[in-house]
Amino acid sequence: MPSLQSVISCLSDYDPSALPVEQANRIIAEVIEPVSGIEQVAIRAALDRVLAEDVVSPIDVPAHDNSAMDGYAFASAALQAADGGAVTLRVIGTALAGDAHGLTPATGEAVRIMTGAVMPAGCDTVIPQEFTQAVPEAEDTVRFAADAVRAGDNRRLRGEDLALGKPALKRGRVLQPADLGLLASLGIAEVKVRRRLRVAFFSTGDELRSIGEPLDAGCVYDSNRYTLHGMLRRLHVELIDMGVVRDDPAALEAALRSACENADAVITSGGVSVGEADYTKQIMAELGDVTFWKIAMRPGRPMAFGRIASNGHQALLFGLPGNPVAVMVTFYHFVRAALHRMMGADIAPPPLMRVRSAQAIRKKPGRTEYQRGVLARGADGQWEVRVTGQQGSGVLRSMSEADCFIVLGHEQGGVAAGDPVEVMLFEGLL
Ligand code: AMP
Ligand code: MG
Repeated sequence: MPSLQSVISCLSDYDPSALPVEQANRIIAEVIEPVSGIEQVAIRAALDRVLAEDVVSPIDVPAHDNSAMDGYAFASAALQAADGGAVTLRVIGTALAGDAHGLTPATGEAVRIMTGAVMPAGCDTVIPQEFTQAVPEAEDTVRFAADAVRAGDNRRLRGEDLALGKPALKRGRVLQPADLGLLASLGIAEVKVRRRLRVAFFSTGDELRSIGEPLDAGCVYDSNRYTLHGMLRRLHVELIDMGVVRDDPAALEAALRSACENADAVITSGGVSVGEADYTKQIMAELGDVTFWKIAMRPGRPMAFGRIASNGHQALLFGLPGNPVAVMVTFYHFVRAALHRMMGADIAPPPLMRVRSAQAIRKKPGRTEYQRGVLARGADGQWEVRVTGQQGSGVLRSMSEADCFIVLGHEQGGVAAGDPVEVMLFEGLL
């Protein structure tokens, strides 16, 4: 793994006191490597797990050409022979799904066929039942207009879903419901997945009280540990909740060491802002390779990032800000992708959608802003977004009420009402 210092020293325009979001993410990505460790699990237990190796299809799905409709299978040469008129075929038997019928119609013949039944030898086309007429004077005969169907219609080809020998699912895939079904369609009972990531987290601050404790004057309940719990649960990692740690160097060092010895990644909140950072900085630096950033973003400016070590164990460290909204914003815009990378998950960045801003938004170029927004249709039926009231980094209600981030890019200035802005939906992110 490259050291943080070596990655940073390669950057010509590195400024830790005004680091653009994109550059911070590039540094984080370069320092991280996936953890090793693979488990074999039954496919039901593999939901949301990360595939550790490609799954190569051991069979063709479907295994045979088969019918996509209930109707009559025939050779399309009959269409040309009819020359735009009616096609009349003698029905020699019925093909049911799951039936190795072995029927082989000759010229002028057809097979009555059900959806999913194997296409009879020599047949390439199915005329759906509803386009056919019985022929009164001739039993076991079917008639239809030649232009009601084209050669090859209503036939599913062998291997068209999954072809034998081709990768059906790629390493790094986070398995979704469709993937479980796809694995089942291949007859695969178990897959190799990466072991779950272990993530330890704690809050720092003498003013923090845990639920159930009296709220002394000047104190607040610790909410960050709960939002972190929720956000981490969505990533399907193993959680190690280490509670509240006092603003005390010895307590902080003990907590960091314990977290490092038991987890792959450690997330702290609070204690990295100016005025508080001094001893935090010193302890984190003593334990490893950590830098302190002021990121050119709002909310979420201060952040510590690096790798710490204790008694032969290593862990990645994210020292997030203390303000409740800043914790969530920095988690979604830095930590989430970093943890995906550590788990070996191949996940594209969440898409940004362009919608109209329903109101003017003040913004200065030179930092990225993540305002909290709510989407709704405007009077003309087009989607538009509006900010969720007060945007202070301590106003957690702004996150709770929102359904998207309004992402105002680094270079962007103010937004006028009616201007397009980019939004990132919470759905899929949370
Ligand atoms: P800090 O970064 O430690 O200076 O904290 C910044 C602000 O966030 C202060 O107002 C803290 O009281 C608040 N804060 C820090 N940690 C938490 C927490 N776990 N839950 C709620 N608020 C917090
Ligand atoms: Mg604090």
